[in-house]
Amino acid sequence: MNNKVILVVLDGLNLSVAQQCLGYLNSLTTSQQAMLYPITCELPSLSRPLYECLLTGIRPVESGIVHNHIHRRSHHESVFSLATQQGKTTAAAAYHWFSELYNRSPYNPVEDRVTDDPALNIQHGRFYHWDHYPDEALFLDAEYLRRHYDPDFLLIHPMNIDDAGHQAGLDSAHYRNMARKADMILSDFLPHWIEAGYHILITSDHGMNNDCSHGGTLTEERAVPLFVIGERFSHQPTHIAQTDICGVVCELLGLVHNKPIARGLLQ
Ligand SMILES: [Zn+2]
Repeated sequence: MNNKVILVVLDGLNLSVAQQCLGYLNSLTTSQQAMLYPITCELPSLSRPLYECLLTGIRPVESGIVHNHIHRRSHHESVFSLATQQGKTTAAAAYHWFSELYNRSPYNPVEDRVTDDPALNIQHGRFYHWDHYPDEALFLDAEYLRRHYDPDFLLIHPMNIDDAGHQAGLDSAHYRNMARKADMILSDFLPHWIEAGYHILITSDHGMNNDCSHGGTLTEERAVPLFVIGERFSHQPTHIAQTDICGVVCELLGLVHNKPIARGLLQ
């Protein structure tokens, strides 16, 4: 069995838009290759605090990463730090805030945009700092990392859905079409990853509202999807919190950890 994990964080993707617009991913659920769990994101429903939540299992009020402009490294063990300490290979194609949280802060685009350093928590990184950096390019960056470095843990984090939401809002063709586009890109890669036996989690940090923003407690800001694919998943109904995702990934990677975990998600 393949113990490798791919975590895809589609930034800013609301649950109902995921249900309506991700035709390929939803076809995997109807054919029982994937299971979709609704998740209520932690608060505030903002990106950097919830990147930290997804990768450490710690709520923003406890991590101290409570808004987007806190430019320091994480104070907690993350999937990246635990994996590298235990001899695993890590990689990420992701927004530069991940580099700041787990590698170096502040982000220096000249030095950090392309990262290949086994001493860092994210050993192989392709980071970007433009919110409109094309999702197509980002997925190609990620696939390059997967093929060339064969990471045990690969984070893939495209930003275009969130960017569309900030321009046009939740109830807009622009936002929905960007979700459809991400689904189409995923449909190019997922069959190969599934065939190779990866455990794959596809989720979002937070949703979106009709004010072209997020951060508060509205259902549309907090409801996000979690699609899971792979033989260790139970595919049974269960409750999963956003803080459980880190522990589930650690468990799948075979790491020693003390993170919370939704046992019902695994078999
Ligand atoms: Zn946003």
